[in-house]
Amino acid sequence: MATHKAVFIYSSELEKYKYPSDHPFNTIRPAKVRKVLNSMGLLSGEGRKEVAPVPAERIVLKKFHSARYLHALQAASKSRWDRDAFNMGIGTSDCPVFKGLYEYAVLAAGGTLTGANLILSGSANIAFNPSGGFHHAGPEHASGFCYINDVALACTVLAEQRKRVLYLDVDVHYGDGVAQAFYDRSDVMTISFHENPRMLFPGTGFEDEIGTGKGKGYCVNVPLPIGTYDKAYIKAFKEIALPLIKVYNPDVFVFQLGADALAGDPLAHLYVTNNLYVEIINHLLSFNKPILATGGGGYNIDNTVRAWALAWTILCGADSEQGMNPALGGVMLESIEWQGGLRDKQLPVSTEQRKSVMPTLDATIDTIRTKVFPIHGL
Ligand SMILES: [Zn+2]
Repeated sequence: MATHKAVFIYSSELEKYKYPSDHPFNTIRPAKVRKVLNSMGLLSGEGRKEVAPVPAERIVLKKFHSARYLHALQAASKSRWDRDAFNMGIGTSDCPVFKGLYEYAVLAAGGTLTGANLILSGSANIAFNPSGGFHHAGPEHASGFCYINDVALACTVLAEQRKRVLYLDVDVHYGDGVAQAFYDRSDVMTISFHENPRMLFPGTGFEDEIGTGKGKGYCVNVPLPIGTYDKAYIKAFKEIALPLIKVYNPDVFVFQLGADALAGDPLAHLYVTNNLYVEIINHLLSFNKPILATGGGGYNIDNTVRAWALAWTILCGADSEQGMNPALGGVMLESIEWQGGLRDKQLPVSTEQRKSVMPTLDATIDTIRTKVFPIHGL
């Protein structure tokens, strides 16, 4: 991108809220990312700044969520929780009730909408809200640790301004809430790479779920076998996502960068490193269109923090700057045994692993190319 106007969206206000201590979702991750980036000097200076999220307004939330659901969420946040709320997924073990839940969800989602508005006004061409990415929430239900679907809302707001939106989701779980929201629409194309839903929540997101009506061919799901590694993943990305993005020619990207596909995540079974994210981000940047990026899953905290900090260095163009010390991130993260900075070490891939991943993945790629590509004249 010619000139970066990159905005990192964060407020220490977000640190006040916490899921119960035994819950895997940790709201501390963005604060840790911010700390690393701040000590590297990457949140200010030419073309970079930090902006505080503005809580999402009720009128905007209602573009995706029902009034009944928002009311139940707000009441639960004040400890007025009932069976009706439970039936909407509020107060389950995945989506527990905790103090300030509504305020947290609205502020975190507000960050993504703040980014969307900065992009729409031309004040930013890169915006990253590591506190966003709640892709499982539905119009009237909480699901998979998500209450307010900030990414679906951002796509809606951008599409309302006649932007062609390309939603890319690399969280290890299928971005079902967003895909469903635009399942019959062609002005928001959703592409989701995720672990095979036979193995993992939410149990949908197979390659034959391709949208319906006007949206047929505009929902693209790439289920990945257990043990998928960087090279296999990037092959699927190049053979599926790149040609579709080229032909779709979006005005803006909404990029859900859940980091739970990383090897070592306690909730999933893929085997990728953060070098994969660098490669994907560089591909997105090559289209020279604004990118609204969010966080998402990521349950190995250290790996997630490093991946998101690294993602920002690429998104804001710092990696190509003279004098940028690539080992600095390593020092900041107090890692003494690895001097590669924020980048992960390459992981060894066994012949066995190659044999179990590649044939399945190749078959998936074939299916998608057969079902989806002709719709786009490919
Ligand atoms: Zn996830």
